[in-house]
Amino acid sequence: MIPLVNLEKQYARIRTQVLARIEEVLESRAFIQGRYVGEFEREWAAMNGAPHAVGCSNGTSAISLALAALGVGPDDEVITVPNTFIATAEAIIEVGARPVFVDVDPATHQLNTGLLEQAITANTRAIIPVHLYGNLVDMDPLLQVASQFSISVVEDTAQAHLATYKGRFAGTMGDAGTFSFYPGKNLGAIGDAGAVFCRQAAHDQTVRKLLDHGRLSKYEHDLVGLNNRMDAIQAVVLQVKLAHIEEWTQARRATAAAYRDRIDSQCATAMAETPDSQPAYHLMVVEVANRDEVIAHMSAEGIATGIHYPLPLHLQPALASLGYTRGDFPVAEAAAERVLSLPMCPELELHEVEMIAGELNSVAHAS
Ligand SMILES: *Cc1c(COP(=O)(O)O)cnc(C)c1O
Repeated sequence: MIPLVNLEKQYARIRTQVLARIEEVLESRAFIQGRYVGEFEREWAAMNGAPHAVGCSNGTSAISLALAALGVGPDDEVITVPNTFIATAEAIIEVGARPVFVDVDPATHQLNTGLLEQAITANTRAIIPVHLYGNLVDMDPLLQVASQFSISVVEDTAQAHLATYKGRFAGTMGDAGTFSFYPGKNLGAIGDAGAVFCRQAAHDQTVRKLLDHGRLSKYEHDLVGLNNRMDAIQAVVLQVKLAHIEEWTQARRATAAAYRDRIDSQCATAMAETPDSQPAYHLMVVEVANRDEVIAHMSAEGIATGIHYPLPLHLQPALASLGYTRGDFPVAEAAAERVLSLPMCPELELHEVEMIAGELNSVAHAS
């Protein structure tokens, strides 16, 4: 079976270093935050040209910490897209705010910036562009609307490590950028972990306090905080992977290009890339008209596929109280019926891409 992501192959390459670094943490007994988390924070910020980074417990807490530090709270509205992982909406609700969805662009499936203005109300406090699949939201028009209406921007960069837009790294263009290092993400820990980039030092300091019980010192608390800290074991594993992440990102781009060369446009439509961007290809997503048939055929040929995501957030039972109905976001709804994720990871080989594309072309039709 060709899996969607092959973490086994990746681990085989870095096993010796990972085990040595984990042993170092065990010997040091600096298990939570501390030296190793600090080192990782500085390295990850430097690699992205971000002024600072804070390590935290996961990508969901990263979003809610960023929103809270920017002052988003009860009665505020936060605009995002319906075709994302539910964590984006959960983080908004976690700080007491209300998710407001806007539809996506039919070619890229990213937030349609032309729909932003009509979604803005007197209560809109933030926009969360999600760089879905590792592709980029068209940030310049989004940042322009945000600045015109004095609205904060938090980039959900959980799928877009080291993706760039007009030469700027994803996660560094808004007031804050948030990362997930869930094991299957482009930069993955061996458990849950995340990070927040803040443009302003004051917001960085607030995130640091919030995620560690609002601490000023050990038993002096400035804010009512949370326990959303990063573990040192996650930090050292991420440090080992930082030595490879640029090369892995290039490998993902090369694999995506190989897929694009081989996928027949009569059979499947690959997601368009946003102009002036270099996606990180967390996922290789195509649209097909006969998805069930394609999945069954691929599975019979030993090829795993995925659907990201089968049910848009505005139709999720958990979010029914937001009051949306089918038909509210026609592009996202149509996409949910047609999207198919093909195997994508740095370790995927060219002959595998050729085989997968060949099987796809033999069964799929684009319309
Ligand atoms: C994975 C993901 C998250 C949440 O990250 P966790 O580390 O799993 O909490 C948030 N947003 C998007 C778009 C994601 O893909």
